[in-house]
Amino acid sequence: MNSFKKVKQVLMLILILNVMVALAKLLYGMYIKSASMVADGYHSLSDSSGNIVGLVGIYLASKPEDEEHPYGHKKFETFSSIFISIMLFVVSYNVLKEAYSRFLNLVVPKITLDSFIIMIVTLLVNTFVFTYEYRQGVKLKSDILVSDSLHTKSDIYVSVSVLITLIALKVGIPTYIDPIMSVVISIFIIKAGIEIIKHSSDILCDRVVVDSKKIHDIAVSVKGVLSCHQIRSRGREDDINIDLHIMVDPSENIIDAHDIASQLEERLKKEIPGVTEVIVHIEPYNKNEIEE
Ligand SMILES: [Zn+2]
Ligand SMILES: [Zn+2]
Repeated sequence: MNSFKKVKQVLMLILILNVMVALAKLLYGMYIKSASMVADGYHSLSDSSGNIVGLVGIYLASKPEDEEHPYGHKKFETFSSIFISIMLFVVSYNVLKEAYSRFLNLVVPKITLDSFIIMIVTLLVNTFVFTYEYRQGVKLKSDILVSDSLHTKSDIYVSVSVLITLIALKVGIPTYIDPIMSVVISIFIIKAGIEIIKHSSDILCDRVVVDSKKIHDIAVSVKGVLSCHQIRSRGREDDINIDLHIMVDPSENIIDAHDIASQLEERLKKEIPGVTEVIVHIEPYNKNEIEE
């Protein structure tokens, strides 16, 4: 439960940063009557909505097991990260749409020193947010932080592409560099979105999370386990469930057989980080019936 608290803190801090950046752009953009800066401000505001989705996901995920969800609620966090990938697709759609209209109507974007400074500040804030959020996400094994940080990274790509375009135009590279850059950027963003969906579906659809060979080797190293088969693992990196069948000597009484299973459960939890539950099915050893 502690790591959820930490994830919540990280998200709150980033939410505050995003809202501050958004307000700065909106207010300044309205003051200097710059449509593109106001639009960028709304974009930053939409970034905060990703943080809010994350906070809701974390709130749902942090609830303890209950009668309706006996495996706990942690997957709510994984589920909510899908929303972030949908946001990424919306961002790339907007970048493409913008690129298309500029392609039809090639204009040299005007840039003032003020808007240039705002862009640099945003870039610095976003670089901090991405680095911090991504590292915390990996450390806390939080899907929502990692996904949200990829969203921030896509914003960084967009800002950098705008800067490169401006510099390119300054040194005399033709105007169509601008829409071409946008298309390249949107491909990166779509890729990030697909990666998030793939990662979430791996967890939600029970892709194998621990190499079966590793589980097998640990199992047969436990005294009394003669063989094992039907090894399965699934779940989030911080909430791995394993189940397997083991064969023990048929003359073993139920107390000893149960002891062997308990020892195996302990060993797996100790040797594989993130394992929270192990279910062992015991069978009497039969040479002709090894199901491997
Ligand atoms: Zn529930
Ligand atoms: Zn079996």
